[in-house]
Amino acid sequence: MTRALLVVDVQNDFTEGGALAVAGGAEVARKISAYLARHGDEYDLVVSSRDWHDSVGDNGGHFATDAAPDFVTTWPVHCVAGTVGAEYHPDYATGSVDVHVYKGQGKPSYSAFEGVTEDGTSLAEILSANEVTAVDVVGLATDYCVLASAKDAVAETLNVCVLTDLVAGVAPESSAAALDELRASGASVV
Ligand SMILES: [Zn+2]
Repeated sequence: MTRALLVVDVQNDFTEGGALAVAGGAEVARKISAYLARHGDEYDLVVSSRDWHDSVGDNGGHFATDAAPDFVTTWPVHCVAGTVGAEYHPDYATGSVDVHVYKGQGKPSYSAFEGVTEDGTSLAEILSANEVTAVDVVGLATDYCVLASAKDAVAETLNVCVLTDLVAGVAPESSAAALDELRASGASVV
């Protein structure tokens, strides 16, 4: 079994003080760093994603520009490429990250599988090239980008495990529902 760790969107805008803060986001950043220090070498590949939106336009309706955001399909402006909000949280130690993918350029992208590297390689291509068969998923936010990324990983017929100690969600109800949905889809939730 070739294992990858997928770290989803541990960025300033998704943590306390950010434009779209998830409660517990900064703690998740710290815990992921501690986990990587202890278990990083158990993974053949560590991939990290970032939401990376355009500074002009509403990114395909993703940003609420004319009305208040509904926090379901429209959101406050967040993770604009090149801004501090789009940077990784300072407590997330990225030294052992092998591959960085960017998503959401001009459109909503909840799943890291919609992301590409700087040279345009998709996450699925990277995992396939490394013959990855199992993916552990951690990061932010449980009920949106972690959910979408883990679902896509299951759809890619990977063995998927969500590490619940290393995720945080926008809302408790939708986060619990997301984990239920992932269990039902065949992912492990531990
Ligand atoms: Zn976004």
